[in-house]
Amino acid sequence: MMSNHYLITTCFTGSSFALFCWRTLYESQRETKSRSISNCQSSDANPLFRTYHRQSISPDKQTRDKPGILFLGTGSSTGCPKPLCAILNKYNTQIQQSATGARFSCQVSQMAIQGDPKYNKNYRNNPSILISHFNNDDKQIDKDDLKDDKLKHVIIDVGKTFREGAIRWMPSHNQSIDAIVLTHEHMDAIGGLDDVRGFQKVQKTEHGFAGVPVPVFLSQRCFEAISRQFHYLVPKKSEPLEEDSIKGSKKVERHVASLDYQIVKAFEPFVAAGLKITPLPVMHGEDLICLGFSFSIRNYTSHESKDVSQQTHVVYLSDISRMIPSTQAYILEKLPPTDILVVDSLLVEKRHPTHFCLTQAVEIAQELGAKQTYIVGMNCDAFKPHDEMNEELSKLEGVNVQLAHDGLVLHFTN
Ligand SMILES: [Zn+2]
Ligand SMILES: [Zn+2]
Repeated sequence: MMSNHYLITTCFTGSSFALFCWRTLYESQRETKSRSISNCQSSDANPLFRTYHRQSISPDKQTRDKPGILFLGTGSSTGCPKPLCAILNKYNTQIQQSATGARFSCQVSQMAIQGDPKYNKNYRNNPSILISHFNNDDKQIDKDDLKDDKLKHVIIDVGKTFREGAIRWMPSHNQSIDAIVLTHEHMDAIGGLDDVRGFQKVQKTEHGFAGVPVPVFLSQRCFEAISRQFHYLVPKKSEPLEEDSIKGSKKVERHVASLDYQIVKAFEPFVAAGLKITPLPVMHGEDLICLGFSFSIRNYTSHESKDVSQQTHVVYLSDISRMIPSTQAYILEKLPPTDILVVDSLLVEKRHPTHFCLTQAVEIAQELGAKQTYIVGMNCDAFKPHDEMNEELSKLEGVNVQLAHDGLVLHFTN
C-alpha cells in the first residue's frame, strides 16, 4: 500500500503549496480518525457501488433510461474551454504568458477544443444534472408506475449552456423535463430559462396553443431576481392587456417559456415531479445563501421484482464557499448516509471567496461520510486534464473522489 506522502507527491507535483495543503489534510485526518472516514467504504466493499454504471462517453449508443443522474454540465461559469483560452489558442500555438506571468491560455482549454465535445471529457458546460426517477412521492406507489415510460425527470439548474448540454445529451437518454429546480440566481444557474420553451410540450388553450407549464422550484430571492431579469417569464395575471403600440393593430400573442414558480424554503422538503427534495442552504460568497439539495432515488431492479426498498441518497452542492453548521448538522443527523455527494471545486488548493477548492471539497466529503464524491464547477486552468486528474484522485486513501464530466451517467440499480 502506498504511503500518504507518496500519494500526495504523485497528485500535485506542480505546486509545493498544494503539496503542503494535502499533507496537512491527510495528516490531520489520520490523527482525528473522524467518524466520516470510518464510514467510508471502498467501492468493492459496498454492494451498492458495484452497481453504479459509470459510463464512458458513448453518445451514439442509445442508453436505456433508468433511475439515476445525467451530468449535463460540470464546469465553471465561463465553461471549458474558456472563450479567451480558445480564441488565443486558435491564433497562437504557444501558450502565452502575460507580463505578470498570468497565463492567457491553458492546457485543459486547449484539449477541450479538440474534436467533438461529445467525446471530450475536458469540454465542460455550466453545472447541471438531470435526475431520472420512479419515486412518485406525491402519491401512493402504484407498482404499474414502475416502468421505464413512467420515469420522471427533474433538472437542477438551467444556466447559460442549458440548451447546448440538453441537446447534446438528452436525446441519447430519451428524457423530458418534468420539473426544474434552481440553486440560485446567477446566470450559470438560470441563464437558460428562456430556452426551456423549446423543450416544452404544447397544449391547446382557449386562445390557441401554449406550452404545458413546467414547475420551477426556487427560493424567494431567486424568484425576485428572475422577476427582474426575465420579467416576461413571470406573467402578471391580473394586469390588464397593454394598449397596442400601433393604433388599431390587433394584439399579438407571443409565446415564451411557460413556467409555474413554486417558492421553497430551507430544510422544508418539497416534491418535484414525484421526487422529494430537501433544500440545503450553504454560503456561496458571504453575501449569498445558495441552495444545495438532497434527494433519494429508488434504485432500479426489474419489472418482475419491482423492489422499491433500495434507494441511493444524493447531496448536491454545486455552489458553495462555506458550509453552514446547521446544514451540516441536518445532513448528518436528519438525512440518511450520503451515498453520492456532488460538490463544487473551482480551484485545487487556493481558497476562493465564492467557491470551494478541491481541498475543501475533500474535507467536506469526509466530514459528511460520502461514499462517492463527484467534483463539478472546475475552472479551466486550475486542474490537470480530466483523465490525468482522476487517476491521481483515485489514489487518495479514505475517500472516493472523482471529477465528474459532461455526459457522465450514474445509474442506480440493486
Ligand atoms: Zn483555460
Ligand atoms: Zn453562482
